[in-house]
Amino acid sequence: MHKGKLWIGTNWKMTKTIEEGGRYTELLKDIEGTLSSDIQLFIIPSHTALYPVKNQLSESSILLGAQNMHWEDSGAFTGEVSPLMLNEIGIELVELGHSERRQYFNENDIDINKKVHAALHHKIKPLVCIGENMEQKNNSISKETLASQLKICLKGLTEEQVKQVMIAYEPVWAIGERGIPADSSYVADIHLFLRRTLVKLFGDTGREIPLLYGGSVNKDNFLEYIDIQNVNGLFIGRAAWNIESFQEILHSLD
Ligand code: PGA
Repeated sequence: MHKGKLWIGTNWKMTKTIEEGGRYTELLKDIEGTLSSDIQLFIIPSHTALYPVKNQLSESSILLGAQNMHWEDSGAFTGEVSPLMLNEIGIELVELGHSERRQYFNENDIDINKKVHAALHHKIKPLVCIGENMEQKNNSISKETLASQLKICLKGLTEEQVKQVMIAYEPVWAIGERGIPADSSYVADIHLFLRRTLVKLFGDTGREIPLLYGGSVNKDNFLEYIDIQNVNGLFIGRAAWNIESFQEILHSLD
């Protein structure tokens, strides 16, 4: 069994209305009360559901995150949401650089770095997503790609600041309907590499940064991933969108 704090969360992507999210959150609160205190749950709804879900979570230790944000506090940026606005709602986390943001909305590591700085400025915890795509994996440049993503996304952070950051390793080829679940030996090798890279960049502080794994995590492979030494949590999409299936996953930890 895993030692220390275990982060387990889900990004709802663009799947739940306020009403659907409200029902889900009520049930998740009940489930959370039955879990070990080592487990830190978090949920990442669409922007429209953040405010109502925050109210629902007022007595709960489930953390709330946003799926994206701009780096400016305010201005002429149609369609964007600022860290100031998210802070006003009282969210604790922000997911930055998910592969869908990179792929469909052209986000790059430099943008993500600006967002990381803005989030920390507003005391919002950045959950930075990195991952190689299939072509990079086939060309055996996964590790170079990941090291470069980490270096740029975390550029300019002090050791004190980086303690607030979490990293999610999500290989692009393992995510979503067409995703191929990664072998646990592959995940173990990459997470060890990521840990070493963080130590190179930030000294011993690099050991304190939670490293989450995501990409086709489900009830059948969940425990295998959790057992990996440098995996400090799991970031789940499809398998956690249905509350019963998320409950099954969480109770498999008992
Ligand atoms: P998935 O999504 O679990 O549905 O593969 C993971 C993610 O995109 O974070």
